[in-house]
Amino acid sequence: MVLHLSGYGLFYSSSHFQKTLRVKYVKQVGNYSSACRLPNLNPFHPSILEFVKDLGKLQCKGERYSFFINDLLEVKGQDIYSVQYRTIERPHGDDFKVVLSDATSLSNEAEPVNDENSANTGFLKKFWNALIGSRKSSSTGPFLGKATVKADFVRVDVATTSSWRTNSDVHMQVSPKEEVIARPVKPGGIPLDIALIMFDSTSAANFKRKMPNTLQYLTKNLNSILLEGETIVGDGTTAQLCAMLTGIAEKKQPEARRSESSSDTVDKWRWIFRDFKQKGYATLFSEDNSRFGSFNYRLHGFKDPPTDHFARPFWLEADKLLDNYCIGSRAAHNISLEYLLSFFRAYKSKPKFSLTTHADISHDDQNAIGYVDDDLKSILQTLENENFLANTLLIIFGDHGARFSDLRETIQGKLEERLPFMSITLPKWFIEKYPDLHSNLVHNSKVLTTPFDVYATLRHILSYPSYPAGEITTGESLFNKIDKESRTCENAGVEEHWCPCLNLEEISTDEPLIKELAEFVVTFMNNLMFKNSHLENLCHKLVLKKITGAFRDMPSEKMQFFDKTRRDGECDSCGLKFAGKSTNTLADDTLYQLQFVTSPNEGFYEASVKMKKGVPSLAGDVSRIDAYKDQPYCIAKKFPLLRKYCYCSQSPDIRS
Ligand SMILES: [Zn+2]
Repeated sequence: MVLHLSGYGLFYSSSHFQKTLRVKYVKQVGNYSSACRLPNLNPFHPSILEFVKDLGKLQCKGERYSFFINDLLEVKGQDIYSVQYRTIERPHGDDFKVVLSDATSLSNEAEPVNDENSANTGFLKKFWNALIGSRKSSSTGPFLGKATVKADFVRVDVATTSSWRTNSDVHMQVSPKEEVIARPVKPGGIPLDIALIMFDSTSAANFKRKMPNTLQYLTKNLNSILLEGETIVGDGTTAQLCAMLTGIAEKKQPEARRSESSSDTVDKWRWIFRDFKQKGYATLFSEDNSRFGSFNYRLHGFKDPPTDHFARPFWLEADKLLDNYCIGSRAAHNISLEYLLSFFRAYKSKPKFSLTTHADISHDDQNAIGYVDDDLKSILQTLENENFLANTLLIIFGDHGARFSDLRETIQGKLEERLPFMSITLPKWFIEKYPDLHSNLVHNSKVLTTPFDVYATLRHILSYPSYPAGEITTGESLFNKIDKESRTCENAGVEEHWCPCLNLEEISTDEPLIKELAEFVVTFMNNLMFKNSHLENLCHKLVLKKITGAFRDMPSEKMQFFDKTRRDGECDSCGLKFAGKSTNTLADDTLYQLQFVTSPNEGFYEASVKMKKGVPSLAGDVSRIDAYKDQPYCIAKKFPLLRKYCYCSQSPDIRS
């Protein structure tokens, strides 16, 4: 029987599903054996192509006057009459405000230009000169101002005579800190720098659609491994980052929700930043979306900065200037990626741990991440050329796929939400020195994995060769071989409605497609037998008599009916809201399993048929479930593989 639940109201209790569950749990289908059969999504499946658009190149318009690199602030340009800069700072103990230092003016160090030769005759410029009463030489012509600023973040305001508006810009760079440089590095572990680069709402499929150049560079040049079974462990960014950075689900953490009266900041959580710092690493955390910060939007955020370099104050200030993915003349994602690059450059000989996240570019429009493709590739090339990747575990990942879109109404969209992008890049020496760890990682790339496993991997790097078993409550290091026969969503920390694993769901044997597929298998069986033409005289041709069972691969019902999460006693997104069943856009690209009877042999068979773009092919062997006894006596010795199909035309008692 097919389930028809769509007639019910919008809310379903979870017990409702258990009562009506008709999904048969099957571990082995065809020649594939695993506790979780992962979907193999086509990123360019026809059902999603209408949502894919090419937005071209990002154009950030605006004049650029200021540059900030290696603690040197430089301002240059024409017709500048005033420059002020202020460092961007974090008020003590406050994650939600930003303060600016007192303004410092930059004076012009440029050679004055002869007035006769300058084009300083416009009304506006004369007006400005009169208004501000400045010397002509400093208010016109070229301006060059410099200052050494030992800070990570500055805001620069430039007033020019060519515009009524002040040109404001913000800059970020890593200014190395004495105490970080002096921090002793403890022995043990695997000496790898760690760089985690996140793009919000980016599924594996969407990364493949929109980031082809980066993807090619990762897989071809850097031999990166793509985790094909990486899945989500809750709703939204917080759930994934919480798992990856603490190894503990949000609902099991000390209460930090702003909505709860007896709650605190997230400082008490078990942050991986702290472990790396204690090991002697320099640490950095930069999250570009300050309004919807992973630990600030619903939660209290941090009282104390969790890392040596913590970019939240910068992004709070930058938010005021952010316009259509740009801050002035620059793309915000490039400012972020260059900050990461400056971290590598600032601590060349220190071990480094960084997490750089991007949400502005990818959260609301899944096509916009295409703007990042060439820029990310270029930053990776720079990191490679400057030899930084020679010592880095680089993880580029999405936290989850798109959560709010038309695409999300389809089964493909729901599966994409659950299967974020994750690539892991390791240096060559690692692969040579630790071939077992590397081959385990390659094995695990085809297994269901989660951000909890990433946490375990990071802890494993710190404690290697010993395994931090006592610290790992959920998940397992990706450097250990994860047993795919026993790994399920349940034991990996993935609740059923998030689980992307496929199971066979019973469907009606009356569906025309099912009859077609059964006929397809019977034709296959006959063709196999009669490939040897003389068998045509020995064995009966088989005819489909009856279809006794039909199943097809589908994710769990809870996933198919899932609409969104809601607040409950456990956490802000732990309650579940169900709605109508998602449109099955994958019917033409699904694995079917059929049970049927043929005549005249009354043979009972089971076969798996994989549909790809509507074209069937057999997956694995056809199994005969009943005993064929001596039906194939006439060919049994010569053609043992055909025994299950051949029903000898003459009965055995008249054999000569
Ligand atoms: Zn997110």
